[in-house]
Amino acid sequence: MNKMKYDKARKQLLEKKIELEKRISKIHNHARNPLNADSAEQAAELGNVEVVAALEMEAIEELAEIKAALHRLDDGSYGICISCGEEIGTKRMAVRPESHECVDCANLPPI
Ligand SMILES: [Zn+2]
Repeated sequence: MNKMKYDKARKQLLEKKIELEKRISKIHNHARNPLNADSAEQAAELGNVEVVAALEMEAIEELAEIKAALHRLDDGSYGICISCGEEIGTKRMAVRPESHECVDCANLPPI
């Protein structure tokens, strides 16, 4: 395969990976903050903790996708749909470089 073709994608993925890792550690530290003793504030904090946990989950899932995409770049399967084996297409890869399925398989409207 043409390695140069995905140089930009690799760079984007690595940048996203660093950004997500920073975001996750920030969220994580925030979530570990001790709760305020005041009960009203505690309730508000608890609600916040749930939101924060959801955000952390989302970031962790995205990071996993990016790591998997970087792995596919290394083993040469990057840009190939894992479901049908067709090329995902450069347009979709440019919009979402961590894609592992083509638009058809991911059930998305065409870009
Ligand atoms: Zn497909």
